[in-house]
Amino acid sequence: MQQQTRCRLPGGGFDEQGRFFDEAELVALSGREEELLSDQGGASSAALVSTLLSRCVRRLGDQAPVSEAMARQLLVADRQYLLLKLRELSFGAEVRSSFTCPWPGCGERIDVTFPLAAIPVTPSQDKGPAYVLQLSEGAALDDGAGGLHREVAFRLPNGADQEALAHLVGRNEARALSLLLQRCLMRVGPFEAPGPGLVEALSPLARMEIERAMEQAAPRINLTMESTCPVCGHDYALPFDLQGFFFGELRINQELLYRETHYLAYHYHWSEHEIMSFTRAKRRRFIELLADEIERLNNER
Ligand SMILES: [Zn+2]
Repeated sequence: MQQQTRCRLPGGGFDEQGRFFDEAELVALSGREEELLSDQGGASSAALVSTLLSRCVRRLGDQAPVSEAMARQLLVADRQYLLLKLRELSFGAEVRSSFTCPWPGCGERIDVTFPLAAIPVTPSQDKGPAYVLQLSEGAALDDGAGGLHREVAFRLPNGADQEALAHLVGRNEARALSLLLQRCLMRVGPFEAPGPGLVEALSPLARMEIERAMEQAAPRINLTMESTCPVCGHDYALPFDLQGFFFGELRINQELLYRETHYLAYHYHWSEHEIMSFTRAKRRRFIELLADEIERLNNER
């Protein structure tokens, strides 16, 4: 039973000394993390991911332990990648999910099963941390004093950006995008750390070119499920909500976590504290052993 793993991040980051790292070491969730995460009704899922990663990622490059602040600095795709690895390590590599067929007139409920390894991961080529882009002529920023500026420097969105934008996502996408641009733009022409006014002054074309350049530079996890509906026979592509799935799974399992903990405490007389430090796989292994033992005793009678 593997409870610890090492992996290479599709993006990677830079430590305080400016050294690049892309290796991570992680351990499976224990009952403690299952409980903590299934309890957090109000927190945004971006904040939960930071908490979870700081507890389960033991090392990033040669930095250990990993703080929540460090987890926030990881690129969006690296955080998704670590969640995938954590899910695999803690609860297995197979995902069972169900959804409604998006085709009009069908709407059938479909159960899907797929291995996490089937999710395509595209590492970034240029590791940054800063990227420079030349805007097209039509997209140049007019500074109002006769200057036209085409050079833009940016960094890629990370967990801190996700947390800062969490309250806007799904409510005001345009505002969320402007705020993201403002956070990630490092320089436009001679203007360092451009404020909201300068971001508003960018033309829609300029914004589109910057967003496209960010997408091309960023590592990517393709969370789109593509398949064929077994009922109506149409092909579909649906976004797979990885964070929602992960935390939904934990919420559903909280009841089970307490029942398993009670069962082990009752039979083995271990403390709640000890049992909660076990991973799910370890709890279940002991429960299986108990079941075998009870069956053996029954057969002897
Ligand atoms: Zn269908």
